[in-house]
Amino acid sequence: MKKNILVIPGDGIGPEVTTWGKAVLEQIATSFDHEFSFDEALMGHAAIEATGNPLPDETLEKAKKSDAILFGAVGHAKYDNDPSLKVRPEQGLLKIRKELGLYANLRPIMLFDELLNASSIKASILKGTDILFFRELTGDVYFGDKVRSEDRNTASDLMIYHKYEIERIAHKAYEAAMQRGRKLCSVDKANVLESSRLWRETVQEIGKQYPEVETTHMFIDNAAMQLIKDPKQFDVVLTANLFGDILTDEASQIAGSMGMLASASVGDGTGFFEPIHGSAHDITGKDLANPLASILSVALMLEISFGLKEEAQLIISSIDRVLKEGFRTNDIADDSTSPYHVLGTEEMGKLVLKYITQKTYTN
Ligand code: NAD
Repeated sequence: MKKNILVIPGDGIGPEVTTWGKAVLEQIATSFDHEFSFDEALMGHAAIEATGNPLPDETLEKAKKSDAILFGAVGHAKYDNDPSLKVRPEQGLLKIRKELGLYANLRPIMLFDELLNASSIKASILKGTDILFFRELTGDVYFGDKVRSEDRNTASDLMIYHKYEIERIAHKAYEAAMQRGRKLCSVDKANVLESSRLWRETVQEIGKQYPEVETTHMFIDNAAMQLIKDPKQFDVVLTANLFGDILTDEASQIAGSMGMLASASVGDGTGFFEPIHGSAHDITGKDLANPLASILSVALMLEISFGLKEEAQLIISSIDRVLKEGFRTNDIADDSTSPYHVLGTEEMGKLVLKYITQKTYTN
């Protein structure tokens, strides 16, 4: 198979982890006789520094021409500490999602048994959890009007949804539920928010087209609690942009660390694959970043964009083997399960590559 892949490393630990995502793609191409060609582009703080624009036109053009995009993260402490800066790294990410029509963000909560003790939640509660989040990506407060009063003392962000935006992601989530446990929980705040009432009405309508799927509705505050109390109750979770952003960071603790969660953003055009974590300034340049989320993002790319299931499974098996043999990065190391070997970003990346090369499947 021939594919053109655009790599956008971004900022902070983005380049450190994306190096290993790309290396895995190269190894998969060699091992399975595919032809993957790569191009690279700037986004975020790195792009602002180089061009003044968080999403240069050149990046967008390359993105539109590619078959899939592997992204790292954007962000820099400078902007976090000065909210008044007008040109910001995350504008690049929001714009590329909008321009590529990436309206559905899929975040599988994949739980490796070896990491049950890396979570702050009890292993007995976590074991068996398998959730697929569908976070809407092109609406909500992220894109609604943002207003600041003249005296600067009042601010508002418009939480806005159009029916078609809810319909199209609801269809995607129901289709996924049909292939999984046939349960879909839609999360909103319909007791308070008008946009959530539209959300709930629309999901109820679309749900009628999927009678085999059991639909439930949950308020966001309850969902945040239920996710910790009993995560096994969820199969597919469908939610809006802001609620999904928060719930999936919470859910990362089920998987043990932000460094373990991958995501796929899909819609009308090129798919966009990225770890859910940010640029993590606190660990940048220290060889501490866990590259597994980036590598798992590659597995999602192979399966979702290219339909290469065996290749994706080999990546997951290789990570499983690494963990089974007791290797950890710092973020998933857990004193109660020693002995294990704590590896840096580079050593972890190399080990996964080695196991991919050996083509051993653990399940
Ligand atoms: P973050 O995800 O960068 O980090 C949160 C915590 O998780 C930190 O303690 C970090 O060290 C740890 N962590 C994250 N990824 C890790 C990995 N791969 N391995 C080990 N530990 C990891 O979130 P934050 O600290 O809130 O934000 C930092 C910057 O990232 C900000 O500028 C923010 O705007 C940006 N951000 C970008 C994205 C994105 O590009 N998709 C997402 C979230 C935050």
